[in-house]
Parts: sequence; C-alpha cells; structure tokens
Amino acid sequence: MTSEPSGLFDLAVIGLGAVGSACLYQALRRGARVIGIDRFDPPHDKGSSHGDTRITRQAIGEGDEYVPLALRSHAIWDELAAATGERLIDRCGFLLIVRGDAENLHHGKLGFHARTVAAARRFNIAHELIDPAEIMYRFPLFHGLKGDEEGYFEPGGGQVFPERCIAVQLGEARRLGADVRTGCEVLSVEPDGSGVAIRTSGGIVRAAKAVVAGGAWMPRLAPSLASRLKIYRQTLHWFPLADPEHAQAAPTWIWNREASPSGQFYGFPSLPGSGEIKCAGEQYDQTCDPDGVRRQVDASESADMFNQHVRGRLRGVGSLATRAAACCYTVAPGSDFIVEHHPESDAVTLVSACSGHGFKHSAGLGEALASQALDNIAHPMLASFDAT
Ligand SMILES: Cc1cc2nc3c(=O)[nH]c(=O)nc-3n(C[C@H](O)[C@H](O)[C@H](O)COP(=O)(O)OP(=O)(O)OC[C@H]3O[C@@H](n4cnc5c(N)ncnc54)[C@H](O)[C@@H]3O)c2cc1C
Repeated sequence: MTSEPSGLFDLAVIGLGAVGSACLYQALRRGARVIGIDRFDPPHDKGSSHGDTRITRQAIGEGDEYVPLALRSHAIWDELAAATGERLIDRCGFLLIVRGDAENLHHGKLGFHARTVAAARRFNIAHELIDPAEIMYRFPLFHGLKGDEEGYFEPGGGQVFPERCIAVQLGEARRLGADVRTGCEVLSVEPDGSGVAIRTSGGIVRAAKAVVAGGAWMPRLAPSLASRLKIYRQTLHWFPLADPEHAQAAPTWIWNREASPSGQFYGFPSLPGSGEIKCAGEQYDQTCDPDGVRRQVDASESADMFNQHVRGRLRGVGSLATRAAACCYTVAPGSDFIVEHHPESDAVTLVSACSGHGFKHSAGLGEALASQALDNIAHPMLASFDAT
C-alpha cells in the first residue's frame, strides 16, 4: 500500500453524505487542507440521503438541543442557495397532526406535539395551533380527521432537497480545493501518536484529525459505536395525483394518529410538474445490514402504505405507486445522535446523526464538527450528543 506523506492533511472526512459533505465544505471554508473519502460517489442511493426530499422543522420535538442545529442549517442552505443558484430549501410550511399525544412515541419521545409547541415558544419560532376543522379547510389535501387531533403548523418549516444539498456542498468543497476521493473504501481508522492513519482501498492516508460520518456503515467503521446502533430498512412511496392542485399547496406533514409506528406516516407536497406525491411510514421491527439490504420495494409494500395510511386521509391520490425506494435509518439510543471521540484519541470524532431525523441538522452539524476538529475547542452545539 502507498502512504501519503505524514501530516499532509489537517482533516480527513470519512463518508461524504449529508453530514460528511457539510463538514468537508465547512472545513474548506476555514482554509484547512482537507481530504474527503467515500466508498461510493455521493449523492447516491445506497445510504440514508436519497429520495428527493426531507422534512425540515425549526421547533424540534426530539429535543431543544437540536433547535440551534436546525436553525443554523437553514441559514447555511440559504447562503449556499444564494451563492450557487440551486434551490436547497423550500419553506412550504410543516404540519404536525397528533392523536393521544401523551402516549404517542415519536422518534423516541412521548408528547411530541407538546414538546414541539414548548420548543417553539422557548425559541420564539412562529407557529399556530390549529384544530382538525381548520386543518381540513386550509389544506384540502387532508381529510378524514377524527376531530380529537391536535395540530401544530410552522410556516418556516418545509422541505429540503438532500441530493442537491450534498452535491452543492461537495461542489463548493472541490472548488475551494478539497481532495475528494470517491469509489475509495475506508477499511480502518487508526489513531496514532501523530494523528490518524486511514487505511483505504487506495492506500494509506494520514491526517492530523478525522471526522467519521459513515451513516449506516458506522457500526463497521467505528466498532465502539456498534452495540448502540441499529439499522432499519425504511421505504418511500410516490403515488400519482388525480388532483395536483391540493397536493401542491400542502405543507410537509407528520400525522401520528395512533400510538405505534404503524399508526404514523409523513409526506411532502407534490413537486411542481411531477404529478405525484411522496409518503412514507417508519418501521422498527426488523434490522438490516446496509450492504445486504433489499433495495427493491415490492408493489405489495406500496399497496400496504396506501391502504394503511393514504386511503381516506389524502384527497385525490391514486392507489398504484409510480415508484418507491428503500433507505436506511441508523438509530441510536433514545433516537438521538451520537457525536463522540474515538475511545483511543481525541483526534478522531465519530458521528452518527440519523435516528430518522438527521438531515435537517446536517449543515449546522457539519459546520460545528469542522470547527471543533480544526480549532481544538469543544463546540457548544455538540455537547449534548456526547455520552462518554
Ligand atoms: C427514508 C428516510 C427518511 C428520512 N426522513 C427525514 C426527514 O424527513 N427529515 C430529516 O431531517 N431526516 C430524515 N431522515 C434522516 C436523514 O436522511 C439522515 O439522518 C441523513 O441523511 C444521514 O446522513 P449521514 O451523513 O449520516 O449518512 P449518509 O448520507 O448515508 O452518508 C454516509 C456516507 O458514508 C459513506 N461510507 C460508508 N462507509 C464507508 C467506508 N467504509 N468508506 C468510505 N465511505 C463510506 C457512504 O457511502 C455514504 O456516502 C430520513 C432518512 C431516511 C432513510
């Protein structure tokens, strides 16, 4: 194996998906000598960051510690969009509909609606509490509410476009001089006295610091996290629209109608010209291996999605899916994030920031990770995610 000269890079970023591409870009903005390595060629459809859209929110029911990350991410995407002309975030609004909030577990937290409202009040985030009649009046896409739901509408929430965010951050990082190596698998990350030795399929890379953001492959890249991470196959489904008008004017939504994952689904407004609408549920029954995960989605899985969730709740949506995709959640205890140092060295930061809700935080998280690694100072936005 060949070896780069010792100390060539200030920082190596391993995994260039949502978190890694953000960290790489931010490190380049700080003028560091940086290398980014990915086994595939991001954005790609083998990890956790594909499928056109992700919901973004500002008041985060998963915990107050996430709010600054989401707000900072929105600001970064606005800056990047202005600089590149790419549309990265769409503030079409976000709607949360919940029945039986106190018993309803969402992303590891009971009382998700109450927690979201409390966060909105604490951080002064514009929102409205809206009742079922008003939800159906203002957003005709939705019908079939029972009348006892609680609604929360956030006009500054909406959707982000994950593939575009990753492509733009990697493009900007390259433009600023990053050494980006795709199709290069990292085999091990080994801290030593003078930094980090990264063994890859293309030779050994040396850097003073490393950030490891391997998504669903983190259990393999960072054995110290393996017992705490579970990987779950999730599916996304696109359905045709009989009536695109209602679906284009809709916000993104999470609809928790029963206190179980199978009683919850979420979705997105129709993208202009697409003639389809994307919906998804969550499952936490069966874990998977990211290399062996079944990427094909059966027609019966889309039919189940339609029959369990869409039928009788979304107006003007056809029952036969036009397409579907499988994607991996990497879930940490409490559905939280893990950001901690390698057990043998502070030179390596290990990041697992998914649990089904990580994309909206990725740009801010990448900035904080780059800053912490290059400045050697603990970043306040990361403190809550270190359990060591
Ligand atoms: C179906 C689905 C729906 C979701 N919905 C939302 C949502 O609405 N809102 C939200 O905020 N979040 C959502 N999420 C979560 C969010 O998408 C993830 O948190 C985020 O994309 C994870 O980013 P990541 O950088 O950790 O992983 P990824 O983007 O998957 O990146 C990991 C990268 O590491 C690389 N890699 C792995 N191993 C190696 C190796 N050995 N060598 C080199 N490279 C390696 C991979 O190739 C990959 O490119 C959803 C996730 C899924 C799957």
